[in-house]
Amino acid sequence: MPLQDKSNPYRTHSTDELRKDNAGEEVRLAGWVHRRRDHGGLIFIDLRDRWGITQVTFHPERGGVFSSAERLRPEWSISVEGEVVRRPEGNENPDLPTGAIEVEATRLEILNPSETPPFEIERDRPVDETLRLKYRYLDLRRERMRDKILLRHRVVKHMRDYLDDRGFVEIETPILTASTPEGARDYLVPARLYPGQFYALPQSPQQFKQLLMVAGFERYFQIARALRDEDQRGDRQPEHTQLDLEMSYTTQDEVLELVEGLYTGIVERLTQKRLLTKPFPRLTYTEAMNRFGTDKPDIRFGLELSDVSQPAADSEFKVFEGAVASGGSVRGIAVGGLGDLTRRELDELTAVATSGGAKGLAHFQVQPDGLKSPVAKLFSRAEQDTLRAALGAEEGDWMFFVADKNPVVFESLSRLRLHFRDRLGLADPDVLGMSWVTDFPLFEWNEDEGCIEPMHHMFTMPREEDLPLLDSDPLQVIGQLYDLVANGTELASGSMRIHNPDLQQKVFDVIGIGPEEAHNRFGTILTAFRYGAPPHGGIAPGVDRLLMLLTDEPNIREVMAFPKTQAARDEMMDAPGPISDEQLKELNISLRRGPGGERGSDPAARPGEGNN
Ligand code: ASP
Repeated sequence: MPLQDKSNPYRTHSTDELRKDNAGEEVRLAGWVHRRRDHGGLIFIDLRDRWGITQVTFHPERGGVFSSAERLRPEWSISVEGEVVRRPEGNENPDLPTGAIEVEATRLEILNPSETPPFEIERDRPVDETLRLKYRYLDLRRERMRDKILLRHRVVKHMRDYLDDRGFVEIETPILTASTPEGARDYLVPARLYPGQFYALPQSPQQFKQLLMVAGFERYFQIARALRDEDQRGDRQPEHTQLDLEMSYTTQDEVLELVEGLYTGIVERLTQKRLLTKPFPRLTYTEAMNRFGTDKPDIRFGLELSDVSQPAADSEFKVFEGAVASGGSVRGIAVGGLGDLTRRELDELTAVATSGGAKGLAHFQVQPDGLKSPVAKLFSRAEQDTLRAALGAEEGDWMFFVADKNPVVFESLSRLRLHFRDRLGLADPDVLGMSWVTDFPLFEWNEDEGCIEPMHHMFTMPREEDLPLLDSDPLQVIGQLYDLVANGTELASGSMRIHNPDLQQKVFDVIGIGPEEAHNRFGTILTAFRYGAPPHGGIAPGVDRLLMLLTDEPNIREVMAFPKTQAARDEMMDAPGPISDEQLKELNISLRRGPGGERGSDPAARPGEGNN
């Protein structure tokens, strides 16, 4: 990158800038000692800044400079001055943009030495993650990390430019606020000025963006932080970033097209990945479940599910018959290219299915003279042929069936499908199979709590034709809800919103929030809707998830500059941590003593410490 200020005392050029044509120029460069080699009495330094690497040479005939250079060690911060020279024939490095030249140093200023880093910066070797997180500022110096953070910047910049071009306004919403539930626990902050009261950190700016629509901004976006106090899983963090957006006087199609254009631009302009299909296929929730067993389908490969409940129920196999009789189903997939499977391999596949809740996995191999399976004799030849035809199985293929309640059948076969994807290499890692999943149920039944919950959140507009069902059969109501999914991951979730206070209260009623509670918790939005609230809708694409997909990182921490550990700790800043008695007093908070008499926030009692 060309630097503008040639009078800068540290540098006149960046370390990716100099080429053959610069030979003979006097330049200054600054950065870190990436690598040092001593060679035939010469010292070679690879000098690194954010943009690249330039080789600097120190000759023994320049006594003072040479002896200072002898002290240099990796990661020292230096500034050098010297002449750009062409590298001798044969010494050029075609892998380096500056590989045709080197800078012969005439002056060296050591700006700051470095202790030996706890891990190598110059080479990409596996390093213990806790150590990397503790010294994140050094980890981020590594090329792989730097490049991901730079890509993240370009992605976010693309989002901003794309939306600005289309009339969207970026507006910040508060971090200290009241709770907007998104189905997770809130992070709470004690309010010193209001003893016993708490701010909630936003799980999303959902209510604010809807209020901005009432406020007349029409098209809003924000690169927003969403904070959710959830049990951590591989791809979750206490705080994550969303591109939060909302539009007024809009339709579902308009939102989908806008976001599709955004993602297409990001993938095609900023990455080497390919999109599987354009436009992105749109599947209803029911279709996604029936074909892939999940509402987050990986559409890059086949192995789609087939419903064989009817022929299966006709067989003598009690397990099939029983599942269908009790309202469940029998579904299966056909898989080619497996060859013969050993007992042990079949047990492993059964374990994959049972991890999804199935009680077992029925398996058949298609052979010239019929199906081969321990239970084959329970199926007449005609039934065998029907099953085979239903799955489109060919000779040599295996057929796998699960019989149970629908959710179990879907989950088990979906897991099996992904297992075969990985085992047989069915999906191209350089391809992004983006699809929309629409028409989700508005509510779902929470088995543990025995209550109805919103599938997404409680501000979603039901499908117009389903409004009467809100009273009679709410679980059948379809919401104007949509998710963007890629390669089995949900990238964005959004909906058309309710803008009528009475309808909003009706939805609250279904999930057990009566008028008084609704008034206390959501009074503002209910009141705002009484002032000519426009129809509106939006979506919130996850920024971290997208980056994970674009960089092939299965771990969300790899695409965040300063993530927390899986145990929700900030290893670098050592947070959370205890606070002083003074601070507690100011906040009017007293902590319960632990069993050993220690304070609840005693560092010795930190949950999950070191457990990464
Ligand atoms: N607020 C929602 C979420 O965070 C997204 C949306 O409906 O726009 O998931």
